Amino acid sequence: MTIPHNIYIHVPFCMSKCNYCAFFSRACATPDWRAYTDGILNEIDYWANKLGKIDIPTIFFGGGTPSLMPTSYFSEIMIKIRTRFNVLPNTEITIESNPGTLDSARLDEFIDAGVNRLSIGVQSLNDDELRFLGRRHNASDALRLIDSAQSRDIRVSADFIYGLPNHNAKTVEQLCRDINKIGLSHCSMYELTIEPNTPFGKMNLDMPSNDEMAEMYGTISNTLNLPRYEVSNYAAPGYECRHNQNIWDGGAYIGIGRGAAGRVFIDNIWYEQLGDGARFEPIDAHDRAVEKIITGLRTVRGLTLAPDVENALNIEYAKSRPELLEIVNGRIRTTTAGMLILDDIVLNLVK
Ligand code: SF4
Repeated sequence: MTIPHNIYIHVPFCMSKCNYCAFFSRACATPDWRAYTDGILNEIDYWANKLGKIDIPTIFFGGGTPSLMPTSYFSEIMIKIRTRFNVLPNTEITIESNPGTLDSARLDEFIDAGVNRLSIGVQSLNDDELRFLGRRHNASDALRLIDSAQSRDIRVSADFIYGLPNHNAKTVEQLCRDINKIGLSHCSMYELTIEPNTPFGKMNLDMPSNDEMAEMYGTISNTLNLPRYEVSNYAAPGYECRHNQNIWDGGAYIGIGRGAAGRVFIDNIWYEQLGDGARFEPIDAHDRAVEKIITGLRTVRGLTLAPDVENALNIEYAKSRPELLEIVNGRIRTTTAGMLILDDIVLNLVK
């Protein structure tokens, strides 16, 4: 039996590394695009041979900085996907981008190749903060790109980072008011986390306390004019990122490109891709249910208490903590208070 799979394509190149970044990406503005694209085309063929001409509800080019890619290579990849799979009229096709890598002409070329959703790494609207984060663009570059994208017939999302050393509830409230003025239909608000082996990891920064972070998190929900639908994601109803929602719902997706994860479903067995092309191994039913619990609880709508999920969780714990977890109409979901301590909840909930 085949089911629809989404496609994630990883493009692990950036102009330079940001000070906080622990993503799988490397600073290289002029990689060998021909070789990288050929690798992606081969992987698409590999999965098409394995899965057949299945429906592809979403395609997501993530990074790294996929908007660095020359549009001719991007088009080749899209043509290959359309040839080997069934791309639907309403397939969501997202590309992640950074300001400074995408002028109007290139944006139009990506749209001509099929992009209908642009995700922009804005991170801050303050030039000092952008420098501190190691970003290459300033706030007006970001606003120009948002403006340009919003004037086209595509969906636009922007990423922001809060919880910088100088941040408090007031500064975050102001950031949210400024975001409201931009009129986005989707944005992601990520708490700054300090990862080892990054420049920030070696700087001994004076970070806000957990309580201060929690206050900022509450301020975001109270000030942004978009409702939260996942721990860090906010969207007008109907503008949620379908690609990520599918992952959080435990759906199937093929990872393509170096470092790309994936969950593929072949002959009734779920497989985990190991991040380098065709290597994958089966996931047993319990581990798969645990994954669904971990990702499903990140979403405001939660997940269905299907038999595999019920078997993998401690229902007595869930029922004993109504301030953190709600069970309604056969679904379990995290409350607003629970979102703040999701890691703790999962540790207690999962068997
Ligand atoms: S642009 Fe994104 S992926 Fe690239 S270094 Fe910065 S944070 Fe990391």
